[in-house]
Amino acid sequence: MQSSADLRSLHVARFGAAPEIFAAPGRVNIIGEHTDYAEGFVMPAAIDFATLAGISPRSDGKIVIYSENFKEERSFDAAALPAAANHYWSDYPLGVLAILAGEGYTIPAFSLSIWSDVPLGSGLSSSAAIEVATALAVLSLIGAEIPGPKLARLCQRAENEFVGSACGIMDQFISANGKKDHALLLDCRDLSYKLAPIPPDVALVIANTMVKHAVTGGEYTSRRAQVEEAAAVIGRHRPEVKFLRDATLEDLEKWGSEMSPEAVKRARHVISENERTVEAADALIQNERKKLGRLMAEAHWSYSRDFEASCVEADAMVELAQDLPGLIGARLTGGGFGGCTVNLVEADHAKEFAAELAMRYVTRTGIQPQIHICHASDGARKV
Ligand code: ADP
Ligand code: MG
Repeated sequence: MQSSADLRSLHVARFGAAPEIFAAPGRVNIIGEHTDYAEGFVMPAAIDFATLAGISPRSDGKIVIYSENFKEERSFDAAALPAAANHYWSDYPLGVLAILAGEGYTIPAFSLSIWSDVPLGSGLSSSAAIEVATALAVLSLIGAEIPGPKLARLCQRAENEFVGSACGIMDQFISANGKKDHALLLDCRDLSYKLAPIPPDVALVIANTMVKHAVTGGEYTSRRAQVEEAAAVIGRHRPEVKFLRDATLEDLEKWGSEMSPEAVKRARHVISENERTVEAADALIQNERKKLGRLMAEAHWSYSRDFEASCVEADAMVELAQDLPGLIGARLTGGGFGGCTVNLVEADHAKEFAAELAMRYVTRTGIQPQIHICHASDGARKV
């Protein structure tokens, strides 16, 4: 499977009807990690890997969803959709249906075929991509339209409330609203945003460490709780601080002694990361590459040392990139504990950069990485 034409043939062969096809991209976060639920700033770009969803109506009252990635079909009764997750990939599309139904839309019977070239579970947000692609497909079948920012909120709710994962708004927002050749500085407080052009001679090189450490359950949740603990302590002294977005490093110096040592470190990451993200958007807009690189390096080590969400392999992938020709900046991207690093690289050097980084990484770790040379792409759309 390689293209929308392939998905069309697959859908026709399986379901005997021609589909309408929608695409929603994965994303890479250039900077701004774990700032979204602190109502802060993030700066992702949609990438040229996407999830495709083909949809056609059915007349037997069923909703049948096929994922080519899992080579598996799941069938449901449109009139009696599951009310809760059952820890299966189909939770993601079902969650979208549940949220749309809760918004008052009547969900008709349909066949849905899904295929994605976003690597699943690698921190490039295949989950938001499948949610947004499903939402667009179903809305088009119903003949309804929802603007991108609202669509992103509904898909985030599908993941929070149905799938049961406490993600912020970033992934769904960028998948729905990305813009070709741009990163997007998103204010997670009010969803206002500013586009920052990525110069044509800069490539996004995404290096998959191929590890995803199974941290003893709930690391994301515990980090989030520590961030909230820090915000609550500061808020006791400065009631206008409801989220760490409103706090400063000075606040942390003054009242850090009232928090657990973990909360102090997590908060130091989030508060400084928020500042770095706004500065990085400026640096990108002004094309100040040295500054951008420095901010990405600081972000990585803050994520690794204070937020303690990196791992040996991701630290190695960042270190090994440092003296390669063409590198502008490198850091671990996504939820942490493995997954991918994002490297901003001068486009002329991207190919050799990728090859050399792969060689160094396999020598250091014994693991063959996957390295992709990507470009910022448009958000979700009809194909
Ligand atoms: P990420 O969003 O970083 O890729 P997640 O763990 O948030 O990782 O989401 C990955 C999960 O989303 C998969 O394990 C699967 O359940 C679901 N998913 C994503 N893409 C697809 C797909 N194309 N087909 C079926 N399920 C998918
Ligand atoms: Mg995800």
